Amino acid sequence: MPRHAPPPENRQEKKHIVAKKPTPRPITRAKTAAIYAHLRELDPEPKTELHYSNSYTLVVAVALSAQATDVGVNKATKNLFALADNPADMVALGEDKVRDLIKTIGLFRNKAKNVIGLSQLLLDEFDGEVPQTRDELIRLPGVGRKTANVVLNVAFGQPTIAVDTHIFRVGNRTGMAPGNTPDEVEAVLMRVTPPEFMQHAHHWLILHGRYTCVARKPRCWLCRVSDVCRFRDKTPAPDT
Ligand code: SF4
Repeated sequence: MPRHAPPPENRQEKKHIVAKKPTPRPITRAKTAAIYAHLRELDPEPKTELHYSNSYTLVVAVALSAQATDVGVNKATKNLFALADNPADMVALGEDKVRDLIKTIGLFRNKAKNVIGLSQLLLDEFDGEVPQTRDELIRLPGVGRKTANVVLNVAFGQPTIAVDTHIFRVGNRTGMAPGNTPDEVEAVLMRVTPPEFMQHAHHWLILHGRYTCVARKPRCWLCRVSDVCRFRDKTPAPDT
């Protein structure tokens, strides 16, 4: 081994760093603004598709929506919220009953446990009210950064963007916010989203990913932002 050569493990690490694919730069701010402007034109006041009646039921609905569809969650919460739409009633309902009411959605056992846990913590430490900061929200069982961002945005009108699978895909495909992780995509979106679009950015991007820029075969031929989107393999119009 030459006198100054790094030990084998360091060489391997160096090779790994060199091999890492660099994250491309986002598209220009003018193009990002054009995409938001198109999405706003299509739906000026976008709303969450989850059903809720207050900030507490929103927290529960969003926590239940992990790895489940909004339609599936709405079906389950219809009966659940009819019996308990506040932390005290939920705790009184009990974990077994909650589990039974949400058993149609994925991970229901763990989610039932979290619903009771978060309700109890709200009673014990927040006077039964939903807190309005991310640091406090993520202390609740079953509430991570994504859920907290949705609650802050939808319930309290704060300019947050919760990166789910749809936003992650749209951010990367369009080139608005390239990133290898949801946190990276969130950081870029927070940087490049013009203030005038901040409040609804979250819903515009989710709905675009859910209905147009879908995972398997994006509907590029009818997409209103295809002229500024950077995605290379755009789907052509189907033969009529
Ligand atoms: S052009 Fe295609 S890839 Fe680009 S945003 Fe529209 S649907 Fe998605």
